[in-house]
Amino acid sequence: MLKKMINSAQIDFDIIPIDPLLIKSGQATVGGVDMSFVRTYRFGEKEEPFIPGSSLKGMIRSYAEKICRSLRDDPVPVCLPYLEPGKEQHGEHRQASCGLCFEKYKKKYNVKTIPSPEIYSLSCPVCRLFGSHGFIGRLSTSDAYLTEDFKNTGNPVLEIRDGVAIDRLTGGAAGGAKYDLEVLTRGEFGTTLDIRNFERWQLGLIALVLRDMEQGLVRVGFGKSRGMGRFRAKITNFRLTYYNQKLSGLSGLAELCSREENNAYGFFAETRDKSPLPKSESNGLRYEYSITDTWKTVLVPGVNDLLKFIENTDWPGALEKFLERRN
Ligand SMILES: [Zn+2]
Repeated sequence: MLKKMINSAQIDFDIIPIDPLLIKSGQATVGGVDMSFVRTYRFGEKEEPFIPGSSLKGMIRSYAEKICRSLRDDPVPVCLPYLEPGKEQHGEHRQASCGLCFEKYKKKYNVKTIPSPEIYSLSCPVCRLFGSHGFIGRLSTSDAYLTEDFKNTGNPVLEIRDGVAIDRLTGGAAGGAKYDLEVLTRGEFGTTLDIRNFERWQLGLIALVLRDMEQGLVRVGFGKSRGMGRFRAKITNFRLTYYNQKLSGLSGLAELCSREENNAYGFFAETRDKSPLPKSESNGLRYEYSITDTWKTVLVPGVNDLLKFIENTDWPGALEKFLERRN
């Protein structure tokens, strides 16, 4: 990836459950419960529930995939992250995982590494942002812990539910054997999302995910089809940073990088829309812009770029050609 920092975005948000949540712990059973909520000992305090950053990243990724899929039918513009090339079933045509395609390429042609600009430019929109096997993405999420505000006013509530009863209620898979779930019904978690070196359309995609998270349309954890996992996100801080450059309007890598870098990475040219950024605060070589109250309007050009990019991306055609060493 680019060796220098050009820009970054940092978003802090709280997760407030609407439905019962279950983020499963790796341990099979804790205290006789079949599926228990994951816990941590933080700062040597008593044990408390939390949501691992990896669960949050997975949730945001799969929702972003859904959005991209809704924007183009044929070919589908994003890969299925676990689908091996050559193993496509009905309905999975041309959706093999970018990362696994690169692995296959390396084996097939006995190549050790593929340069990262090439990997980036050949990857589907979602892998460009979230990464894939052997290629780290632009977006990272931190573990979500109970907020101080919440802890000052109350305690998290965890309850044991009968899994079979939930299945019967929702008409879900009726396994028969009795099992218990430990769900969280009260608690508020705070987390941070970081995006380093973003293209403008990537902020547009994240804006769409955040908007739906704010409206309680996204689910996390176990039992999404059983009336579990819905939450509301409250965005408490949204900050953009540009390094060494003071800007007046929203820009991404396509605008800020050289022609050579644009060619190597295949950044998507930005549409002409511009939205003004608020007054910056300078902090050494960094210029920071707080868009906590205005992100929905500031990021509109990013959403417009996303629509154009999905419509025009040459994925998976370019990746398929690469794999066959066709030009
Ligand atoms: Zn992909």
